[in-house]
Amino acid sequence: MGPGSDTAPGKHIPALPEKIILDPEVVHSPMARKVTARLPEAQVMILEPGQNLCHLSDADNSLVIYLKHFRGRFLRPCPATSRYRCCGYQIIHIGENCPLNCSYCILQAYFQDRTVKVWANQHDLMHQLDEAFSKDFRKQFRVGTGEFTDSLALEHLTGYSSDLVEFLNNYSNVCLELKSKIIDLSWMKKALSSQRILPAWSVNSQEIISAEEKGASSLEERLQAAGKCAEQGFRVCLHFDPIIHYPGWEKGYSRTVEMIHDYLQPVNIAYISMGSFRYMPVLKELIEHNHPQSSYIFNEFIMGMDGKSRLLLPLRTEQFRLIAQKLKAGGISKQIYLCMESDLVWKEVLGCTPNDLGGLDKHLLNLSFGRKN
Ligand code: SF4
Repeated sequence: MGPGSDTAPGKHIPALPEKIILDPEVVHSPMARKVTARLPEAQVMILEPGQNLCHLSDADNSLVIYLKHFRGRFLRPCPATSRYRCCGYQIIHIGENCPLNCSYCILQAYFQDRTVKVWANQHDLMHQLDEAFSKDFRKQFRVGTGEFTDSLALEHLTGYSSDLVEFLNNYSNVCLELKSKIIDLSWMKKALSSQRILPAWSVNSQEIISAEEKGASSLEERLQAAGKCAEQGFRVCLHFDPIIHYPGWEKGYSRTVEMIHDYLQPVNIAYISMGSFRYMPVLKELIEHNHPQSSYIFNEFIMGMDGKSRLLLPLRTEQFRLIAQKLKAGGISKQIYLCMESDLVWKEVLGCTPNDLGGLDKHLLNLSFGRKN
């Protein structure tokens, strides 16, 4: 499949990289063969031993894809914020950076340029995953790839998610979440069962998507795709993150929930998270510099216990409450959780704490595997 085929992300296909940089160890890898074949126009360069990547990246900041021989840990715990309720998710690390351009993206603070890195030594990745997952099949894992990159933004070039879905068919103890802001359902034909793959989309009000998520699919396109997954028997996840306070937010987020009810039944949804916009000091500076039109950073924020600023408590609980109430009115209730919030906020918004649910990690593991709590 090449860019633009029927399972690629349609009109929201992210900009194509103009240059491919390869580590010498992966030049003959299946990933290198696939990406170079799908980008026949791109300039291909091989990194010499000791050569620095920034010498090969373009000064004009055009999109570069770097196929790397990664030597670190491919499976790692999610870097949850200390002192807030975390969900026990583990990351399958497939690469770094993203071709989309969301104004609030934390990756701006992590990476200096637009080079999108893809770990091309998939054989090593699969070896490490097998070691972790096959040690004891009674131990269940909730994993995802959308932490340091978007799970599907490069799928039309790399097919990484399809490869993972195929690989994980053999591991009945692993549930994989594919989290994205674009539409690419090409992975679906590799899934032998619809039970352990959770397609996931970030959702927001359409006003925020239009203004702050440049290059991403519209809300309607995301929910249409979610509906298509549900028709095929997959349960989907939705993430209201980041929820942003702006004039007219009540109407905007209410409309989003209405659209969720239009496209999905409660039974189609594994879980829905809500997370308020939060930032560390460096991210605020980067947003001001890179996205000068983004005014939400001038809202009323307060520094949290983890050094990140969050919207004032009464304002963010008001937003959480409105969204939760409207979801509950349509029968979506037990699946809702809060991302990186304290017991106090949980109690105020959802009327319970993660402990009441047996612990957030256990609760989400149960929801992922379709068990009723
Ligand atoms: S899709 Fe996600 S990873 Fe990509 S730019 Fe937007 S927030 Fe960042």
